[in-house]
Amino acid sequence: MKHDYQYIYNKLYEHYGPQGWWPAETPFEMMMGSILVQNTSWRNVDKALINLRPFLHPEGIAQLPIEDLAQLIRPSGFFNIKAKRIKSYMAWFKTLEYDIDLIKKIDKHLLRNELLSIKGIGRETGDVILLYAFDTPIFIVDAYARRIFYRLGYDMPESYDAFRKQIEKELPRDLVLYNEFHALVVEHAKEHCKAKPICEGCPLLGICDCRLD
Ligand code: SF4
Repeated sequence: MKHDYQYIYNKLYEHYGPQGWWPAETPFEMMMGSILVQNTSWRNVDKALINLRPFLHPEGIAQLPIEDLAQLIRPSGFFNIKAKRIKSYMAWFKTLEYDIDLIKKIDKHLLRNELLSIKGIGRETGDVILLYAFDTPIFIVDAYARRIFYRLGYDMPESYDAFRKQIEKELPRDLVLYNEFHALVVEHAKEHCKAKPICEGCPLLGICDCRLD
């Protein structure tokens, strides 16, 4: 009998404490960070954000020529592709007048479909934006979540949305809980459940199957 997902959340929360994500000064910076972090580490994103700092507002990024944007975000890797993705995102954002409060009022299902229709915004990036910029309680299925739940011994669905819904159907629709859950999963994957796990002292050791294959 496996423990419920709330139990896992509680264990991680007790151990690591509140994480207070996303690491950004504004929701707009958060959105840019969510695209820049694709396929790279946060350290590289930080360098790109420092370069972008003078332009880190919607009009600033919208007015930057794509070649200049690409050079500024070079430290984040895949910079030509990411510059295109940011421009596609900005084109969508402009249709909603760069108005985050307005966007928060859109039906969440509709909003998710809109985000996922933007070129370069996949489910993980879209859901990160939904959760941390547009206040939508949603579970993010990243590689860390897949790794941790697999090792714990849960047989989670392969498909992104089936995995997400399996977790969500057990949890209350609580924004703070989902905000913290993703951040705690990332923290746990960095502190204990690394590629080569450090199981000693792990808060989930007592309930873990330790499937490491
Ligand atoms: S006991 Fe080891 S494998 Fe299991 S969650 Fe903790 S670190 Fe990961």
